Amino acid sequence: MIDADFRRELELEATRLGFDRVGIAPAVEPDDHVHLLAWLDRGDHAGMAYMKDRAEARAHPRSILDGVRSVVMASLVYGRGQAASSDPRRGRIARYAQGADYHVVLRSKLESLLAWVRERIPEAGGRAVVDTAPLLERDFARRAGLGWIGKNTMLIDRRLGSYTFLGALLVDVDLPADSPHASAHCGTCTRCLDACPTDAFRGPYQLDARRCISYWTIEHKGDLPDAVADRLDDWVFGCDVCQDVCPWNRKAPPARDPSMTPDPERVAPDLIAWIESDPKTFARGLVGTALERTKRRGLIRNALAGLTARHVVEALPAVERLLDDPEPVVRAAAARAFERLGRVASTSNADDLDARDASRSS
Ligand code: SF4
Repeated sequence: MIDADFRRELELEATRLGFDRVGIAPAVEPDDHVHLLAWLDRGDHAGMAYMKDRAEARAHPRSILDGVRSVVMASLVYGRGQAASSDPRRGRIARYAQGADYHVVLRSKLESLLAWVRERIPEAGGRAVVDTAPLLERDFARRAGLGWIGKNTMLIDRRLGSYTFLGALLVDVDLPADSPHASAHCGTCTRCLDACPTDAFRGPYQLDARRCISYWTIEHKGDLPDAVADRLDDWVFGCDVCQDVCPWNRKAPPARDPSMTPDPERVAPDLIAWIESDPKTFARGLVGTALERTKRRGLIRNALAGLTARHVVEALPAVERLLDDPEPVVRAAAARAFERLGRVASTSNADDLDARDASRSS
């Protein structure tokens, strides 16, 4: 039954399930759909053809659930995590991927929330959505009152910041909608735009995936162009820079849900250990994590680019062994790394010899 207490009890149940915040939006055409179409027209989606293929489906959530009337948006904090390592052989993984696979965690919580809704409203049909269905989650989260969309394109919650996952529960009954988050609180700040290491923002609210480290390290399947490989720094899966610099994340709370606790193996992975590891063992280690999306071949490609960009010549023996890797993408990345690191090693050997000669003759 939808009575005066429904909204409050929904929130209590969502909190009990581990969500940090919940809101309700009507199932309508999202305001941002027009921006999505412009983004696609500019080609800013890079190689993510699925974004273009499903653009029309994102025009209304009825493409996901027939007769949908309301969208319950729930957020779950994954937290800021730990600082990066200064050791050049160690890589960095976006914070959201350091805990358990959020798809699994959120889906299970949303299914439980749906079961609760059905206890209260037996005629309700619904569907839990985490990332994979064509829904403009951030727009619905804004409409459900959870926060505003920042200049870095992330949803920002005044209290929780932006280190949050968003999940949606689509239901075919009218639930009492919350007021949309009408204001935005970026003001004159441009820290995220200024800090992006690859200048991926055309301007406020406009991200060009062709320049985004997250796109290249996670979504891109083939070889990395030199201009990209040279600028990944230590990122091997995603990037957090535009969130790390955001003042609204200064006081962002830590994760409450134990599944969000970072796996120590994914906080600052030893990239030489990665490229030395047995392929099957490495791939098995990805199961149940968000890194599975990029697979071993993408992650080893990224690790090779990072080690090369930071001149980690001690990786050379392991790089050489990858020249015969069964994966073409890994072979190509290894050949590039072997040639470049080899040049760095021979230059520094020659410099050492020069320095020794100079000290002998002085
Ligand atoms: Fe907005 Fe500044 Fe945060 Fe960027 S860094 S999202 S401009 S508040």
